[in-house]
Amino acid sequence: MDDDDLRESLLDLFEEAPCGYIFTRPDGTFTRANGTFLDWSGYSREDLLNGKRFQDLLTVPGKIFYENQFFPLLRMQGFVREVAFDIAGKEGEKLPVLVNSVLKTAEDGQPTMIASALFLASDRRAYEQEILHAQQEAEQLSAIVRLSADAITRCSAVGLMETWNAGTRDMFRFGEHEIRGMHLRHLLPSIDDEEWRRMLGALASGEAVRFEAVGRRADGSSIDVSVGLAPHVGPLGELTAMSAIMRDITESKEIQRLQNEFLAMISHELGTPLTAIRGHAQLMLRRGVYAQAQLETIVSATDQLGRLIEDLLLASRLEADRFDLRPAELDLVGVVRATVDNIAGASGRTIHLEAPDERVPVWGDRLRLGQVFTNLLSNAVKYSAAGTDITVRITDSDLEARVAVIDRGVGIPAEDIPHLFSRFYRVASAREGAQGVGLGLYIADRLIHAHGGRLMVASEVGSGSTFTVSLPRQRDVTSDSEGGVPL
Ligand code: ADP
Repeated sequence: MDDDDLRESLLDLFEEAPCGYIFTRPDGTFTRANGTFLDWSGYSREDLLNGKRFQDLLTVPGKIFYENQFFPLLRMQGFVREVAFDIAGKEGEKLPVLVNSVLKTAEDGQPTMIASALFLASDRRAYEQEILHAQQEAEQLSAIVRLSADAITRCSAVGLMETWNAGTRDMFRFGEHEIRGMHLRHLLPSIDDEEWRRMLGALASGEAVRFEAVGRRADGSSIDVSVGLAPHVGPLGELTAMSAIMRDITESKEIQRLQNEFLAMISHELGTPLTAIRGHAQLMLRRGVYAQAQLETIVSATDQLGRLIEDLLLASRLEADRFDLRPAELDLVGVVRATVDNIAGASGRTIHLEAPDERVPVWGDRLRLGQVFTNLLSNAVKYSAAGTDITVRITDSDLEARVAVIDRGVGIPAEDIPHLFSRFYRVASAREGAQGVGLGLYIADRLIHAHGGRLMVASEVGSGSTFTVSLPRQRDVTSDSEGGVPL
């Protein structure tokens, strides 16, 4: 190959190289650009060689970077490698490139020319974006695992713990160094050998396993957990590791327990009067006689059933806030006196009523207030021995009217008092003795609140209890034209 041929082929190589080559003066004006660069940018050779500068092809931040960083660096070290720029093509399209430049200088050290090779970086940028995305995703996932209250661990194929999150430590209360290498079954001792073998079998065949278990904490205490085991499978389909996610289900277990307890109680409360009704009715049938006493028992058992069902319905409406009050101005003394007479008559107990001589007008729903005092007075009767005093005291001030129901009964332990107004709550000692489902005080409290008032309790075991209703004297409850107020 002679010199001309060599020159020719070098020129071809320059023109069609897989990268852009450009030569610029120190001020950036183009003196030469190869075909590849012209192709990429869409500019013709004339476009560029008519005084255009390399900086003119850059975005504004790119231009600033070129003048303040790129060129000074180039002057200082004579070369710059792999600097990313976005070049604007002729049609305005963006071309991400990596620029490698060398600075040629004259003998006196003055810069004469910049020779640059440019590589298209679109693929690389996309790839970098993907990596960045994947990295962000991984970080987010690891934050989820780190912050999760669930215990999340990775175990070896035989179940030895290798990695775990803070949730694992908090749930089982083991120290960091105690967990490493601990067997999962140490945390979940309720899994027996047979079960564990079955689980390993399922995991080995690629199946996830879910179950509930009793976990054991470092201090030996128990915790109800739901467990999910997932297999990590190697390239040959073999089990290489497993991940375990354990969630504290103490609360839902407790709800389940309460539900069962509630069902048992409700069945018992409904069953008792029903048995009485059935028994007495059958007796009359068998004997073929109409018996006054038995019919009275049937009527009273039916009333008891009716009241229970009404209370259950009212409680669920109060709970769902779907309930109407029908308030009007009424005399509190009158409402209380009627209830006292009623309960005294039904129970045969003496109830002392201490009330002001004049009317005590309040704004309220006669039926619902009557129900509140009935519940409080029935409790006073139910939870005090026959023959002990029951007093109802009405007092009145500018701001409020108060009704205190005072008994000398069994009293209530201090630790039960904060829960008394919760639905279905009953003091343990009361459960065996008196009938009831634990709705009376809940209903009373909600109804008094609906009237803008308060229900308070003071009690001492063995001495008796005082339940006090306070109602505002102002018209706190508003009424619409129909007289009903959705609460
Ligand atoms: P119930 O009487 O149906 O159990 P309540 O909601 O009326 O339900 O009362 C809740 C619990 O509060 C009762 O189980 C009882 O233990 C206690 N209690 C209520 N009133 C009295 C009272 N006057 N004296 C002692 N304990 C009471």
